[in-house]
Amino acid sequence: MMPRYLINFDTSRIERVDSDVVVVGSGVAGLSAALEISKQFDVALVTKGELRETATWYAQGGVATAVSSEDSPRLHLKDTLEAGAGLCNKDAVDVLVNEAADRIDGLVRLGIKFDLQGDRIELSREGGHRLARVLHSGDATGSEIEATLIRTVDAWKSIRVFENIFALDLILHQGHCRGVICLDKLSGQVVLHAAKAVILATGGAGQLYSVTTNPPVCTGDGMAMAYRAGAILSDMEFIQFHPTALDNELTPRFLITEALRGRGAYLRDCNGKRFMVGRHPLAELAPRDIVSQEMVRVMHRCGGGPVYLDATHIGEEVLKDRFPTIWARCYENGINIAKDLIPVRPAAHYTIGGIKTDLNGLTSIPDLYATGEVACTGVHGANRLASNSLLEGLVFSKRIADTIVHKLADGDNYSEPDFLVSYKRERPNMDVDVRKERTWLQKLMTEYVGVVRSEEGLKFALSQLEEKEKILEVEFSTKEGFELQNMLYIAKLIAKSALSRRESRGVHYREDYPEPSDDWVLHLEHRFMEDDIAEPSIFLPGV
Ligand SMILES: Cc1cc2nc3c(=O)[nH]c(=O)nc-3n(C[C@H](O)[C@H](O)[C@H](O)COP(=O)(O)OP(=O)(O)OC[C@H]3O[C@@H](n4cnc5c(N)ncnc54)[C@H](O)[C@@H]3O)c2cc1C
Repeated sequence: MMPRYLINFDTSRIERVDSDVVVVGSGVAGLSAALEISKQFDVALVTKGELRETATWYAQGGVATAVSSEDSPRLHLKDTLEAGAGLCNKDAVDVLVNEAADRIDGLVRLGIKFDLQGDRIELSREGGHRLARVLHSGDATGSEIEATLIRTVDAWKSIRVFENIFALDLILHQGHCRGVICLDKLSGQVVLHAAKAVILATGGAGQLYSVTTNPPVCTGDGMAMAYRAGAILSDMEFIQFHPTALDNELTPRFLITEALRGRGAYLRDCNGKRFMVGRHPLAELAPRDIVSQEMVRVMHRCGGGPVYLDATHIGEEVLKDRFPTIWARCYENGINIAKDLIPVRPAAHYTIGGIKTDLNGLTSIPDLYATGEVACTGVHGANRLASNSLLEGLVFSKRIADTIVHKLADGDNYSEPDFLVSYKRERPNMDVDVRKERTWLQKLMTEYVGVVRSEEGLKFALSQLEEKEKILEVEFSTKEGFELQNMLYIAKLIAKSALSRRESRGVHYREDYPEPSDDWVLHLEHRFMEDDIAEPSIFLPGV
């Protein structure tokens, strides 16, 4: 039996903090939702580290938005749908591309400085985009956005910020989400953050893989807690791998943005040959899945070693000016990118699936919203178009904020603030080496549930995961233990969906079913059952 909660608790016996809205997560999605709602209502923002410990901080390339005279939301929509390989929710993409420019204006009003060329915004081109469409701040757009949002939180003083608070599980009362059970990492106390609505903005699950661009906070916690609470999770098989992460031993792996290939950098194999030419009309700028899969094949032929990014013909001045972070990070690693080839390999980068939401970010549980990478709004389909995810967080967080503000202003449906919830079950007494298990899991996922998948490998991964299921019943007292449990849940959902989908589509590549199939233009969904992590069920769009 799978426990519904990670810990036993009784809300009558723990500290309780009341707010109108609780936001979990302090990346672009959480901060922008919290700021907007805090103009009118009381918001508590809880985050498991310090505010800036987010994937948002690491984003380099920028934000895709149709702002140039030759571009339009219609063209942005076309590219997004094409990348999504038949599985995008077109209505959600419509929202994304049509509300993008307003959200960019909002960022500029908060003080974000996008790079200019003369008096016009400078745009870069990234993989899968037909034209230059990506607004950027040097090659550190994410940290510029995150730092500006944090400065705004400090300046407005309208949000109660709770750092180092680990959200464990969602509390439901009469079917509505009414709060989050949390662990205060510093005091070790369990606290209930109660609210009229909860927004999960906890980011993705890249840490499930040993080679990842995602920072350590990306352990899929929000997806796992929503799953345990009974929310529908969708499209979990779709994990995007970024082709060009610097090949070293660090976690997270340093990402070499696609914009460098947009500026003309080549990919070369171990013999110096440009292997993407002739493989796809866009060569190095082909969609990420195509590039990553080809890299895995080439790396295999080259004895497992990395492939190389060649920017030596671009010129030192341009490289230093346009890619200062990449220049500096490679230099620290002994690579002068104006002269040397950069060793790269694919890394888990973006969790496309997640908590299923409607166009206003509402999940299948009343008063539970999800935004940013934790959510599955349907905008990415089977493959995310580069630089659409910061945008997704901005656009859908604003819609969530508007929905909640409207609801709270109407005094809608919140009658019983004094609910009590408790949970108690026997827990096994087990010694778990949490670090070792996490490393084991990351290796398993990289090898068998990674860029190239097969029935044999996925079945093996699932059998291995089943052997670890006892760990899900243990009551840990540390963040690391809870993260491991969340990762085990999500790993199994990804592997089950990947095994079920007997075709290749977008970022999901099965070497035993290498082609897409018309029979698989559908979504796979998971819902929690206490007796097992069950097979996904099928959702047919439009039916
Ligand atoms: C290296 C890199 C480069 C990228 N480049 C781009 C780009 O150029 N353009 C683009 O559009 N996208 C890019 N992306 C993707 C994009 O950065 C992310 O998808 C986006 O920032 C996710 O934002 P978020 O707010 O949903 O989550 P995050 O920014 O990851 O924030 C998640 C937050 O939730 C908190 N949290 C998680 N679990 C818990 C818990 N249990 N309790 C409390 N708090 C919790 C975390 O501490 C964190 O504060 C990039 C990603 C990476 C890693």
